[in-house]
Amino acid sequence: MSCSEDPTCQELLDHIYELVDADEDAIDERSRALLAAHAAVCPSCRDAVDAERHVRELLRRCCGESVHAPAALRVRVVSMTTRVRRTE
Ligand SMILES: [Zn+2]
Repeated sequence: MSCSEDPTCQELLDHIYELVDADEDAIDERSRALLAAHAAVCPSCRDAVDAERHVRELLRRCCGESVHAPAALRVRVVSMTTRVRRTE
């Protein structure tokens, strides 16, 4: 993270897994609050967080609780869900 108060979209995307996971070891409370605040006002980041949450849910449902999908698969699923949402 930079030392600026406002996280950028890139910073949010860099930390999106930590944000969605709410992994307290991976990201501190303050950074997460700033990222969450950014996602609340930034439509593209909110979409990205929604898509990531959606992916989590799908993976949990079909693969069980503790599976971590390979990054490449995640990217594909995220782009798929994003595309589906756009055509709705
Ligand atoms: Zn953003």
